[in-house]
Amino acid sequence: MKKKIAIIGAGIAGLTLANLIKKFTDHEFMVYEREESLSLEEGYGIQLAINSVKILSQINFNKINDENVFYPKTIDFYNIQNEKICDLNLSKFNSIDSKYTTLKRSTLIEFLKEDIYTQHLRFGKKIKEVSELKDKVLIKFDDNTNDLVDFVVAADGIFSNTRSFFEKKKIEPKFKKAVAVRLILNSKSELDINEENISLMLGSNSHIVLYPINKKKELNMVCIMRCKKYEPDNIKHLIQEIVLKQNPKLKNIFENEIKTWPLYFSPKIIPSSNKKVFYIGDAFNGFLPTLAQGAGQSIESAYEIFNLLTKDKLDKENNYFEIRSKRAKIIRSRSNFNFFAFHFSSKIMQNVRNLFLKFLVKRKFFVKRYLGKVYKN
Ligand SMILES: Cc1cc2nc3c(=O)[nH]c(=O)nc-3n(C[C@H](O)[C@H](O)[C@H](O)COP(=O)(O)OP(=O)(O)OC[C@H]3O[C@@H](n4cnc5c(N)ncnc54)[C@H](O)[C@@H]3O)c2cc1C
Repeated sequence: MKKKIAIIGAGIAGLTLANLIKKFTDHEFMVYEREESLSLEEGYGIQLAINSVKILSQINFNKINDENVFYPKTIDFYNIQNEKICDLNLSKFNSIDSKYTTLKRSTLIEFLKEDIYTQHLRFGKKIKEVSELKDKVLIKFDDNTNDLVDFVVAADGIFSNTRSFFEKKKIEPKFKKAVAVRLILNSKSELDINEENISLMLGSNSHIVLYPINKKKELNMVCIMRCKKYEPDNIKHLIQEIVLKQNPKLKNIFENEIKTWPLYFSPKIIPSSNKKVFYIGDAFNGFLPTLAQGAGQSIESAYEIFNLLTKDKLDKENNYFEIRSKRAKIIRSRSNFNFFAFHFSSKIMQNVRNLFLKFLVKRKFFVKRYLGKVYKN
């Protein structure tokens, strides 16, 4: 039976769900975005492993101009002095039509908005009130419009405001005592890296990730640093004290305009208490970025909701929470472990970790268990 769905939030999760519903079903839907436009900030790359690329290829991901994506085949591990530790072949998880892909977040959002922009996306929409009317949910927005729907899918990010309308208990995301610095580099500068690969440089209380985001060889750089407080005005000092003290030669890579984020994570996965309301993407669970799976999980969770909808199982026999939380726990434990292992400050621990890394990246069984399970390979 035809259903009506309100999707709250036009990030990667909400837009992916919208595209799947539009392409494969007759259900009615609308995406309600709080902001007045989509966030198409340039300085922000994203890695998509094959678990998400496989899903996106169903909505014609391959129509993105090939010049605007990259397919890195290897992760190169370095210490922060830029000395190589080992490498991991990522391409073994690829298939002919699903490859590990890197691109600008804005390229992904532009692609996801294309088919739904005019008819299915409304901006400047903030929920004012929700109520239940028979078997439906009535959403009132603060611009005095409303929508009566069968289902609400909240895709409004880690600080999900939609939760506060439907849940009595709300667990606030926690600050991980770390900050992310991001920028786009026009060249690999003086770094001794292969710019076609993902380069991961591990330092004390910090790590740096560099990867190509298009065929122009622009590189996305993310530097994660541990810090007790998030002080945006103090970032240059933090970079100096944490990263440049370990390797002054890295100064060049921080010269372009930088953007910073405090790192938050969801401490607990909480089910929806309303059968008509579902949480996807970061609104379901926010991960640390150390497995590069946040967007991937947003896409997967959207696909799970879409599958239940097409099988008419969203309001009965619904196992979304069990399946999603099982999956989220796997990703969360690996992201947390990576965060821990990437930042050792003791030289002894760093050496032990590097030895283990060298040994483990060549062990097929380990790689298949550790990453294959994440990439669903
Ligand atoms: C440093 C860093 C690096 C990362 N790198 C990667 C990576 O390489 N690969 C990867 O897979 N992931 C990565 N991620 C994670 C990834 O970016 C996020 O997990 C993903 O974008 C979450 O998508 P989302 O749609 O759930 O939420 P969001 O992107 O947060 O989108 C939520 C949307 O909802 C809107 N909204 C918010 N509140 C409301 C409201 N009340 N009403 C209506 N609309 C609302 C917002 O404006 C926004 O448009 C990284 C994250 C960080 C911090």
